[in-house]
Amino acid sequence: MAYQPLTPETLLDYLKGRPALAEILPPDESYDVQEVGDGNLNLVFVVQSRENPAHTLVVKQALPYLRVVGEDWPLTRDRVIYETEALMLHNKYAPGLAPRVYDHDYEMSTLMMVNLNRHEIMRKPLVRRVKFPNFAEQIATFLANTLFYTSDLYLKGEEKKALVERFMNPHLRKLQEDFVYTNPFKESPENNWNPLLDDLVQEVRRDGDLKERVAWLKEGYMNHAQSLIHADLHTGSIMINQQETRVIDPEFAFVGPAGYDVAAVLQNLMLSYASHFAHTPDPAARADYQTWLMETMKQIWERFAEKFENLWIEHPEGDLMPADYWAYPGGEADFARFRKDYLATVFRDMVGIAGTKALRRMMGIVSVWDISSIEDPEKRAVAERFAIQVGRRWIKEMDTIKNVDQFLDVMREEA
Ligand code: ADP
Ligand code: MG
Ligand code: MG
Ligand code: MG
Repeated sequence: MAYQPLTPETLLDYLKGRPALAEILPPDESYDVQEVGDGNLNLVFVVQSRENPAHTLVVKQALPYLRVVGEDWPLTRDRVIYETEALMLHNKYAPGLAPRVYDHDYEMSTLMMVNLNRHEIMRKPLVRRVKFPNFAEQIATFLANTLFYTSDLYLKGEEKKALVERFMNPHLRKLQEDFVYTNPFKESPENNWNPLLDDLVQEVRRDGDLKERVAWLKEGYMNHAQSLIHADLHTGSIMINQQETRVIDPEFAFVGPAGYDVAAVLQNLMLSYASHFAHTPDPAARADYQTWLMETMKQIWERFAEKFENLWIEHPEGDLMPADYWAYPGGEADFARFRKDYLATVFRDMVGIAGTKALRRMMGIVSVWDISSIEDPEKRAVAERFAIQVGRRWIKEMDTIKNVDQFLDVMREEA
C-alpha cells in the first residue's frame, strides 16, 4: 500500500489487510478507534474491540513532517524503522520492559504494538507525587541490559559495526545535536525561556567554560559509538504503574554515548524535583516527595552500575577485550580496574549530559510539562532557576563530581 496518513476511518480496513494481526484483532468483531498522539512527529491510534477487552492494540504512524508546525517542516519517515528495530532489540535484551511489537509496515511507516492500557505516562503522576516502588530497579535493568548487550563489551567487532550501520538515523540525530547541544546555548529563534530569568539565561550563553564543555559533550554525542541508546528517554517515554515499567518511543535510537540515557532519566527526575517548589507549597509534603525523587535517582545510578558490571563479569564475550587478553598474573585485578574506570567514564559523561539536557529544557525549544504547567511565572521562575543552577554546575563540575552522592549534593546545595 502506497504511503498515506491513516485516519480513524481508514485504519480498520488497513489493519484487516495485515495477516499478522488476525489473531489479536479477529475480523468478525467490531472496533473503536481513537487517536491519542500527544507527540509532535507521529500519529498514535488505540484500537479496541467492543466484544473482547483483550483484543486491542496501538498503531503508531510516522508523518512526513513535524506535526507542530504543519507540513512545511519535512522530516523523513525512516524513524519508524529505527523505532521498530530498537523495540525488537529492547524486547530481546530487556524482556518485559518495552512494548511487544505485533507487526510493522515500512511502506506505510506503521508500527503495531501492545496497548499499554494498564500503564500511564510517568510525567503526570510525578506531578501528583505518586511514588513508584519498583521504578528504580526496573529502569536500572532496562539501562544496564540495553547498554551492555549493544556495546563492544558483549558484541563481536563485526556485530557491533553492523549495529552502528543499521542505526545510522541521520535526521533524528541531527535534530538532537541542534536542539539539545547547540541552539539553546546561542541565539536561535525557536528558543523559549522565562523573561524573569533573562539575566541568568544570558549569563549561561556567555559562560565560556560551560560552552567549551558543551562543545566536547556534543563531540561525544556525534562520535562516541559506545552502545545503542534510546536517545529520548524522558519521563514522557516511560509508561508505568505500581508494578511495572515500560519504555516506549525509541525513534531517536542510534549507537552513541552510554551515559546519555541514564542522564536523560536522572535529569528528568531532577526537573520533577524542581517543579515541586511550585506544585507543592506544603513544606512537609514537598520534602517527602523530593526525598523520594532523590533516593530514586541514587538507586538508579547505583543499581545501573552494579547490574552493568555484573553482566560484564558474566559475559566477557565482546572484542573489548577478549577474556584471554587478561590471562596473565595480575590480569584479573587489571580487568577489574578497567571495569571500574569504564563505568567512571560513563558516569562523567552522564553528569555533563544531565546538565546539558536540563539547561536545554529551560532555555531551548521545548520545556517539560512538569514545569511548563506551572502557570504563575514567578513561581515557575523558582523551579527554573533551581534547574538552571543545578544544570550549569553539573556541566562545569563534571570532572570533580566523582560519585552519585556528590551529584545529588549539587541539588541539596542549590535548594
Ligand atoms: P511520539 O513519538 O509522537 O512522542 P509516543 O510513542 O511517545 O509518540 O506516543 C504518544 C502517546 O501515545 C504516548 O504519550 C502515550 O500516551 C500513547 N502511547 C504510545 N504508545 C503506547 C502504547 N503502546 N500503549 C498505550 N499508549 C501508548
Ligand atoms: Mg513520545
Ligand atoms: Mg509524546
Ligand atoms: Mg517520539
